[in-house]
Amino acid sequence: MADVRSVHTHLQHYERHLARLEELRELLQDQLTAALSRPRPAGAAADPRTSEIEAAIDRMDRGIYGTCRCCGTFIAYEQLLRTPYRSICDRCALQRGLQHD
Ligand SMILES: [Zn+2]
Repeated sequence: MADVRSVHTHLQHYERHLARLEELRELLQDQLTAALSRPRPAGAAADPRTSEIEAAIDRMDRGIYGTCRCCGTFIAYEQLLRTPYRSICDRCALQRGLQHD
């Protein structure tokens, strides 16, 4: 027989996960709005971050947001809160000499 308490715990984890995703989506939307409204000199290229943020929102829509594109593991929530548009975990970023902050 299934352990009711562990099912309940799983549900709670799932709900927390969804709440965190919603929070991160709002963060991304805010950052996108800020990036788009930032004044830039005429003829200057768009902030490269804008496309990163848009790509992250797209990943969210496709349900693949939050996993590292290199090693495939879930990126820690704390890392996503710091840079919600990231597509790579701290460990892989370090290995590749990438900076994310
Ligand atoms: Zn990784």
